Amino acid sequence: MSLPLENRIALVTGASRGIGRAVALELARRGAHVIALARTQGGLEELDDEIRAVGGEATLVPCDLKDFDALDRLGLAIYERWKKLDILVGNAGVLGPVTPLGHVEPKQWDDVMAVNVTANWRLIRSLDPLLRASDAGRAVFVTSGVGSRAQMTAYLGPYSISKSALDSLARMYAAETANTTNVRVMIANPGPLRTRMRASLMPGEDPQTLRTPEDFAPHVVDLCSPTSTETGKLWDFASGALKSFRSPD
Ligand code: NAP
Repeated sequence: MSLPLENRIALVTGASRGIGRAVALELARRGAHVIALARTQGGLEELDDEIRAVGGEATLVPCDLKDFDALDRLGLAIYERWKKLDILVGNAGVLGPVTPLGHVEPKQWDDVMAVNVTANWRLIRSLDPLLRASDAGRAVFVTSGVGSRAQMTAYLGPYSISKSALDSLARMYAAETANTTNVRVMIANPGPLRTRMRASLMPGEDPQTLRTPEDFAPHVVDLCSPTSTETGKLWDFASGALKSFRSPD
């Protein structure tokens, strides 16, 4: 029996652990060939073992998203091997400093913006022709609820601002592709999930009270399916709601 995402090529950033790892594994379970990107080779190799164990296939890309030239080379490599990309999951992110804006070091600011925003734009820049070459290109970007709350979560400046920018980036890409291409672009908000990032933000929290990346991943993969045709919208895991744009909450 054929799998729903058979012959589809999917790139997942931040696939070495947490949400990205779970999304990559779920994509592979549904038949996609996963291009798994992160810096930690060991984490990628563990994912590769898990993907093989479910009968899937992966290509590992040990890469720092701040190496923008490498993202250009990745686009070329995908073109040479497959001529198209069906799915992009822009998941990788960093929390950055938890401190008042006036105390943020310039390098900390630059690093958060580079990974959470600029790398996703560089991926769009590099991969857009390949997503357009697919019969149903899908891009999903993983945001956060702190991005555009009416009442800002204090001391999470670079992270919150970067996620607001990521939302705008995704919506812009959706607007540019909506009418003339088969590309569809969605934003997914996981809410609090049991990962290393969440534990570093909330060290006193009992992780057992949180839902897991494995709970979230199938919903992200649903958004990557050719049958998912919404674009430019936010899917919110906590409420299960699809929102036309980020409403203050
Ligand atoms: P995580 O466990 O810290 O995983 C982050 C992933 O991003 C890792 O695979 C990491 O891989 C990768 N990454 C970070 N910097 C990178 C870089 N410079 N180059 C390449 N890869 C890089 O975090 P997570 O909780 O799974 O978060 C995933 C996404 O969900 C993030 O965008 C986060 O903002 C968002 N989110 C999470 C929660 C939550 O509660 N967990 C809530 C809201 C939003 P390497 O370190 O191996 O490079």
